[in-house]
Amino acid sequence: MNSFDTPDLSIVSPCFNEEDGLREYHRRVSATVAPLCIAYEIVLVDDGSRDRTWDIMQELAAEDPQVVCIKLSRNHGQQLALTAGLSACRGYRVLILDADLQDPPELLPQMMELMDQGAEVVYGQRRHRAGESRRKLFTSALFYRFINRLTDVRIPQDTGDFRIMSRRVLDLFLSMPERQRFVRGMISWLGFRQVPLLYDRDARFAGETKWGLKMLVKLAIDAVTSFSTRPLKIASLLGVAFGLASFALLGYALISWLFLGAVEGWTSLMMVTTMLGGIQLLVIGIQGEYLGRLFDQAKGRPLFMVDQVVGGGRLKAVEAPVLPARSAVPTLMTRQKAVPSAL
Ligand code: UDP
Ligand code: MG
Repeated sequence: MNSFDTPDLSIVSPCFNEEDGLREYHRRVSATVAPLCIAYEIVLVDDGSRDRTWDIMQELAAEDPQVVCIKLSRNHGQQLALTAGLSACRGYRVLILDADLQDPPELLPQMMELMDQGAEVVYGQRRHRAGESRRKLFTSALFYRFINRLTDVRIPQDTGDFRIMSRRVLDLFLSMPERQRFVRGMISWLGFRQVPLLYDRDARFAGETKWGLKMLVKLAIDAVTSFSTRPLKIASLLGVAFGLASFALLGYALISWLFLGAVEGWTSLMMVTTMLGGIQLLVIGIQGEYLGRLFDQAKGRPLFMVDQVVGGGRLKAVEAPVLPARSAVPTLMTRQKAVPSAL
């Protein structure tokens, strides 16, 4: 394959502190793709790792011309690292695969077959998850229920970002300029023929999960606020409900003042003020979540900053990728371009 040709398949993996698993990842991915006799590339994105991940990536790129490595300027989080890889890859089809080998690359042939049968997206749906703590399973179940209850897009239960998609879907995805990127939700939202593939999720090959409870809560809020304005409606409904309740209370207070010789109701006063105060704060908080995201979006900063690209003579290709919707895609900044011109 000439490195400037369009490969049949790109495999994109964000990596954050994955030094122990990367070689095994490369071995298993290569062993799966080689028999398919297709032109492919493996796009690894180093999301500001603090261990030897980048060194190992460079070694892999030196050994295997199929490997392209992108080093982000710092940790951007999985969803943005993934977006960086997706905007740099060039394949007709693109497989998103975690670097920790929790999702078996060996499913690729099955996924390709479903694509051949006309699917635009084939997403892995977990039947069983090995090696996950009970807390992780619980938070993850809660996460999907919460999102599906609050958003209009149906995000299939128990799916991750593990999926293969066509170039057409990928280009549409890349034309979506939002900052808060909830990749699997955005792809679901696009529509087309999306087909599940059931599989058993393995335990991590090495290292540990980077998704703590805090990050999951952030992802859930991102998911809900980017796909739904229902929380704002809930906020106004709460406002209406408490407005009505306060009218009733007003009536009660008047009646007791006029006819019942009211005793100063400290308790009820306390209850009403604290409750109303709480609800008001909640409503302001919900509005703030949206406002904050609007603010982020309005700044229009690049989604990610690229420090270095190594592998397969691809630097040129990454600087000028053939993406139709490129104007809408945040620019990939190379190290040279990142220096402000005023300096
Ligand atoms: N990841 C990343 N940046 C981060 C956190 C994670 O690129 O800030 C990568 C990580 O290396 C892995 C994938 O995203 O390839 C999924 O992360 P992880 O395995 O920690 O999540 P989990 O599988 O537990 O949901
Ligand atoms: Mg994982």
